[in-house]
Amino acid sequence: MVELKTEAELAVVREAGRMVARVHDAVRARAAVGVTLRELDDLARKILADAGAEPVFLGYQPRFATTPFPGVICTSVNDAALHGIPDGYRLRDGDVLSVDCGAEIDGWVADAATTFIVGTPDPDDGRLIESTRRALDAAINTAVVDARLGDVSYAIGEVARADGYGINTDYGGHGVGRQMHEEPSVPNDGRPGRGMRLRPGLVIAIEPWFMSGGDSSYYVDDDGWTLRTGDGSRAAHMEHTVAITPDGPRVLTLP
Ligand code: MG
Ligand code: MG
Repeated sequence: MVELKTEAELAVVREAGRMVARVHDAVRARAAVGVTLRELDDLARKILADAGAEPVFLGYQPRFATTPFPGVICTSVNDAALHGIPDGYRLRDGDVLSVDCGAEIDGWVADAATTFIVGTPDPDDGRLIESTRRALDAAINTAVVDARLGDVSYAIGEVARADGYGINTDYGGHGVGRQMHEEPSVPNDGRPGRGMRLRPGLVIAIEPWFMSGGDSSYYVDDDGWTLRTGDGSRAAHMEHTVAITPDGPRVLTLP
C-alpha cells in the first residue's frame, strides 16, 4: 500500500532528514587515512543519540539478511557498493567510501547516502561519483506530480548508459515514511511513461548505485551483507529522500 503523507508528516520526515544530513557531514569531515569504519559508526551513533533520533539501520534484518545489521551507518569501500558493515578496516589513501544512513524521529524515517574519496582522488573515481550524483539529480527533477515512476527510474538508467557504468535493479529506491522500506519500489532503471503516477504527498528514497566496470553483476560477502561489484571495479551510491509536492520535488535529506 502506498501512503501519501500530510504536510505535518512531511515536516517530521524533514526533521529526520536533517539528522541524516548532520551524520553525513560529520562522517565526511572525520573520514581520513587511518580512521576505522567503526570510529565513523561511533560518531554517527553519538550524533543520532544526541539529537534524540533512532538509528533505523541498527538491528535491521530484511528477508535477504541472515543477521541483524550491526551498525547505524553502512560503510561501503571501493568495490563494495551497498550495505558495508562498519568494522575495524582502516581507511587508505584514495579509498572510495559510500556512507548510507537512516534516522527516525517520532515514528517517521528519512534515508540518504553519499559517496566521496578519502585522501588523494583518482580522476576515474571522481567521474564515477559525479555521474552517480548527476543520475540522482536527474531522477529528482523528474519526480513531479503526474509523472510516472518509470520516468524516475529511466532518468537513472539513462545516465548510467550514457556514461558506460553498470547498474543492477535488484536494489534501488523505495517508498519511505513510517518504515524505511515501503511501497512503491523505485528501480534504478525502467521505462518512461510506465508505472505508478506520482501524487502529492508521496515520499520516495531515490538511490542510484553505479559500478565503474560497466558490468551489472554483483555478489554478497560471507558476512551476509556487503554487496560487491562482480568484476571488482569500484562503485558509488547516492541517495536522497524526496517528497512529491505541488511545488515540485522537495529533498528532505538536505542539511
Ligand atoms: Mg539508504
Ligand atoms: Mg534507501
